[in-house]
Amino acid sequence: MTAGTCTHPVRLHGRIDAIDRATGELRPVYDTTTDEPGGELLVACGNRRESVCPPCSAVYKRDARQLVRAGLTGGKGLPETISAHPCVFATFTAPSFGPVHARRMRGQTVLPCRPRRNAKVRVCPHGRDISCPRRHHPDDPILGRALCPDCYDYASAVLFNAYAGKLWKRFTTYLPRYLARRAGMTQKALRATVRVRYVKVAEYQARGVVHYHAVIRLDAAGETYQPPPPRFTADLLHDAIGQAAAAVTFPIDPADHPGCPALRLRFGAQVDVKPIRPSEDLPATGRELSARAVGNYIAKYATKTLEAPGLPARPIASRLDIDGLRCPAHYRRMVIAAWELGGGKLTAGLRPTRLCRWAHQLGHGGHFLTKSCRYSVTFGQLRRARTEHRRAQRHPDGAHDPWGRPLDDRVVLIVSTWAYAGTGNIPTPEAELALASADHARQLAPAAA
Ligand SMILES: [Zn+2]
Ligand SMILES: [Zn+2]
Ligand SMILES: [Zn+2]
Repeated sequence: MTAGTCTHPVRLHGRIDAIDRATGELRPVYDTTTDEPGGELLVACGNRRESVCPPCSAVYKRDARQLVRAGLTGGKGLPETISAHPCVFATFTAPSFGPVHARRMRGQTVLPCRPRRNAKVRVCPHGRDISCPRRHHPDDPILGRALCPDCYDYASAVLFNAYAGKLWKRFTTYLPRYLARRAGMTQKALRATVRVRYVKVAEYQARGVVHYHAVIRLDAAGETYQPPPPRFTADLLHDAIGQAAAAVTFPIDPADHPGCPALRLRFGAQVDVKPIRPSEDLPATGRELSARAVGNYIAKYATKTLEAPGLPARPIASRLDIDGLRCPAHYRRMVIAAWELGGGKLTAGLRPTRLCRWAHQLGHGGHFLTKSCRYSVTFGQLRRARTEHRRAQRHPDGAHDPWGRPLDDRVVLIVSTWAYAGTGNIPTPEAELALASADHARQLAPAAA
């Protein structure tokens, strides 16, 4: 991938030569020293994080959107009939770890955050008032903060973030069992008939706990994206997801985390499951989501980084880093909880534990976008298709070797050598200024001599 508009590309020195396999003759094909302005090839950094490289992140976002949409409406090698498969958009949240300020809605109406009139239940064991009559604005910075930090279970919140991926993995093994049960067949018969395919993204809620959004689809078993038998409806899928999510747990072993009680992680009580409208042409009904909306939503969260102000972009190296953090107290407590559950203090030469390594992300070290085998195309396939497209544009009549023959790897051997020359664009404004003043100096030099 060449750099395009990447803001800090990787710079390479290198050359490509062709060797005639029959004669051993070597001819140069390409050399950065002569063929590239500045003598270096710029390759895009490919970072998906918007805060690191906006242009590369935009490319990734576009690919994520295409990947999600192909699995909903077909295209990119998938049949259009896929849009008729049972398919839902499901949101899996974490359970409560203690009362937090929340924007609660009923329809379009904002409800009071946590109204409690009874004085007995308004006060927590620490003597704090844990009621809140306010109707919070969506931008209220207090949203997600604990009403009593001493009541809030920071350890469980952080462990949920750390092990949510494992909980999800278990969910994906439970789901076929519940599908089989609802369809009245054995698991073995189900495996021979139907496959669950999904793509999911992680998102941080205001309280700093991840939740998942997933597109979950049923296909017939096999690799050709055929529809499952008619008895596998979106309603059956909907019910099976609810049951599997309610049943799945993941045990935390206290031996793995100092000071942690034995704990079983689970998803929150309510899994929100919405059907996805099979076609953009059909009229919208109240609950159904359009494929476009779902594609945009997932692409957005695939590139969004943790939007908790003040959290470090880099892992935490010591307790001193935490003391220096400028972030809301709620997140600081989570960072500390992750750090301590992970064993805290780093000893030279020892690898940090998972929880310490991801303390700066409140314990979550998983990928932001994951998908099952054969949900649709892969990022790699989309990238290769772009490369092929560019190559076809550059050589409309096919590529040729330096002897003018159509390129054939049985006739010539292509050898390339690359060396890393640095990262970031040259010229930078500073480099340009330096060059300009050097140029100016040279112009003045003869007159001065
Ligand atoms: Zn980049
Ligand atoms: Zn509140
Ligand atoms: Zn309390």
